[in-house]
Amino acid sequence: MFFLSEVEYKLLINKILPLARENPVDQSLRGWSWHVPPLKPDYNVRIPMFLVCSKYCPTARDAYLYMVEEKRGIVNEKMALGSAIHAAVRTVIRNFIRGKKLNFESWYEETLKAKDVKRRFERVKSLTRFVWEYVEAMCKSKFMEAMSRQPYASEDSVMATALPFLVNHRISGELLGLSGLLAVDCYDYLRNIVFDVKVSDEEYEWYRLFPTGYALVFESVYEVPVDVGCVVYVKFHGDRLVVKRDMFYIDDDLRSWWIEERDEKARLVAMKMDPGIPKECFKDCMYLGVCRS
Ligand code: SF4
Repeated sequence: MFFLSEVEYKLLINKILPLARENPVDQSLRGWSWHVPPLKPDYNVRIPMFLVCSKYCPTARDAYLYMVEEKRGIVNEKMALGSAIHAAVRTVIRNFIRGKKLNFESWYEETLKAKDVKRRFERVKSLTRFVWEYVEAMCKSKFMEAMSRQPYASEDSVMATALPFLVNHRISGELLGLSGLLAVDCYDYLRNIVFDVKVSDEEYEWYRLFPTGYALVFESVYEVPVDVGCVVYVKFHGDRLVVKRDMFYIDDDLRSWWIEERDEKARLVAMKMDPGIPKECFKDCMYLGVCRS
């Protein structure tokens, strides 16, 4: 999931990193400038990252409903699948790094029974199993390969470099006007890349806002520059799992776009402004029953 291919390494080293060095990020757009404009939050509200970055709703009414009216909508199959796959990815990688073995069946029964996913969405289990097995195989293969190249290194040391991942890393976004507790899908601490997983057939430019936002949060808390983001698309073509990565430089334009989105949504919430219903709604929106009933 988070292992780059040879071509992606070339892209990172020969294109993205040189671009970042030649056109460095403006200091005012680094997360550590959270206390001065434009990063300084204008309003005293805290919004979850998914609402800042999501552009499914053309008028951002989802942000208003979630934050002002405290409505939660109805979970559909796509959302249940996304949630199960996120949980599977983080569980497999964390357990592998800790040397723990876990059986998919028992994990699935235990983890998802409370969410009522089993009964409502039959397909979710088989697709999540694909992802579980894929991530497990990738972890084993990368670890074995690294072990074979470093006969004198300890297993711990090989693990730390073969799988250099902070998975589901918890971090506070409050300096940037975000919820106090965010979870970053993955941070590669050797290559300094923030990953965000999307279980989606559609690829949107605005999905890049998620790694951008998390990079800003990392910079605000740890005061280290994070220049590279990556959206990991997980798709299913029939019975085949497809994983595609969109890796990019988190440049000034993306940072400014993220700030605009945050400010716009913070304004709606702080002023309790209902932005209204657009002509056309997102077909899988969890609020269709609220706005279109
Ligand atoms: S149902 Fe339509 S208006 Fe309501 S949140 Fe969804 S996309 Fe926006």
